[in-house]
Amino acid sequence: MPRNIETVEKLSELVSSFICHAAGHLPDDVRAKLGEMRQIETEGFAPQIYDCMEENMKMADSLGRPSCQDTGIPQFFARVGTAFPYINEIEASLIEAVKKATVRAPLRHNAVEVFDEYNTGNNIGHHIPWIDWELVPDSDELELYFYMAGGGCSLPGMAKVLMPLEGYDGIAKAVFDQMTTYGVNACPPCLVGIGIAGSAEVAAKLSKKALLRPVGSHNPNPKAAQMESLMEEGLNSIGIGPGGFGGKLSVMGVNIEQASRHPATLAMGLSTACWAHRRAGIRIRPDYTYDFFTHKGVSL
Ligand code: SF4
Repeated sequence: MPRNIETVEKLSELVSSFICHAAGHLPDDVRAKLGEMRQIETEGFAPQIYDCMEENMKMADSLGRPSCQDTGIPQFFARVGTAFPYINEIEASLIEAVKKATVRAPLRHNAVEVFDEYNTGNNIGHHIPWIDWELVPDSDELELYFYMAGGGCSLPGMAKVLMPLEGYDGIAKAVFDQMTTYGVNACPPCLVGIGIAGSAEVAAKLSKKALLRPVGSHNPNPKAAQMESLMEEGLNSIGIGPGGFGGKLSVMGVNIEQASRHPATLAMGLSTACWAHRRAGIRIRPDYTYDFFTHKGVSL
């Protein structure tokens, strides 16, 4: 179906600016959390590592450059109002936005075609950018989350299906096993996303969606919230510390999302975000005005 070229141009310009800003600026909640953690770390290398992160963020801002060399695979999570007038143009606009941001930000070329094994050179490939769709009834807005999924953070996640009798202890064990082996692939302090469901693919997807939730938020189910707090406490007691150099705190938090499961299965997924947790959220209205809600006060 032919797309409205003018709409694709307008939407892709806006989303391209949104991506470029996200590449160089962490969201408000992550910045605040890193600042809090810096105050708690007073010994060893930890304070220097936090100071390096702060310096890094300032330089990314003043030089107009991404805050990490790995700008990741671009992933979008779109919550589309069923009355959003440009619904037919969204996909083309997101692809065009990634092409533009790859040059402007600039973004590292991270799309490698499987089997043919070549880098496409513009961050566009089969299912890249990855777009996750959700429909929102009775809305004329597009709520868009963007995530830079790096080779150390979030992409090396895991999912498995446990026997139900392994229970929530089994989920905790799987998380701690992973975090104490491959966990430091994501430069700590990490944000840990956990999905619990009836199948591996649903659990994996929920674990990524858990990373979109603000740092410091809690699952509305009190038992899930308690599990988040207990796991955060436990992971902090390991002593990985910022950059993996040791410290009092290792994680920014643990976010759990769940879906009802089959009686015979208990699946878990794990996605780990790094300190450079480049997650951005924007709400776009039909007149192209927007609310950049993860980065307050920013005009694109
Ligand atoms: S884990 Fe995060 S901070 Fe470390 S290299 Fe990857 S994207 Fe950059």
